[in-house]
Amino acid sequence: MIVADRKSLNEILDMVKNYNKILVVGCKGCVTVCNVGGLKEVQVLAASLKIGRKKEERPLEVDEKILERQCDPEYIEQLKDVVDNYDAVVSMACGVGPQFLSEAYPNQKFFPAVNTTFYGGAVSHGIWEERCAGCGSCIIHYFDGLCPIARCSKSLLNGTCGGSDRGKCEISKDVDCIWDKIVKKKIAQGRLDDLLPITPAKDWRTARDGGPRKARREELIQNG
Ligand code: SF4
Ligand code: SF4
Repeated sequence: MIVADRKSLNEILDMVKNYNKILVVGCKGCVTVCNVGGLKEVQVLAASLKIGRKKEERPLEVDEKILERQCDPEYIEQLKDVVDNYDAVVSMACGVGPQFLSEAYPNQKFFPAVNTTFYGGAVSHGIWEERCAGCGSCIIHYFDGLCPIARCSKSLLNGTCGGSDRGKCEISKDVDCIWDKIVKKKIAQGRLDDLLPITPAKDWRTARDGGPRKARREELIQNG
């Protein structure tokens, strides 16, 4: 899932300071799962914005809406009859949402209420960790299902570096060294020799380095 954090109330208040009537739009996808942009968070932000502006004695009218997803034209279209009734729209989806909205409704102004951070998952209640960097050509089968691109601070494909210390990365005692985990797992399974060959440099053209990417599913296009 995509993990995000909500921006500070002051930052969002500043974004909408010139407007008097706004729509806050949430998303039932990843941002609901990571408790950042779902129904509850939309309600909290809308109430907080109203209170914030009331304190400034400049009341703000705020409506709330939640879409199934903001990364799908099918759901974005549900705003078509209301979107122009507002001075601006605040999106609580990941960075994809406000961009889809902005492209669908060129006459409206859209603002992001969240910072999109990484692809990851919940390791315990309320704690999410990064697991994938979206490189476009997965190679974790060489590393026992653990990703050194997303989880090694240097994205080393031939680790460890000299900084690993008792299972922790040299950048912080709070960050696991993924290469320590990879090596220990190989030892536990009696397969350490798997790591003897040097992993060649990766072709990064499938990652962001090759420019914006596009996915095509011909069977869906033909059947659509
Ligand atoms: S190798 Fe690439 S696709 Fe696979 S988990 Fe790592 S970053 Fe993600
Ligand atoms: S200590 Fe481990 S995780 Fe950190 S940079 Fe070195 S090999 Fe990568």
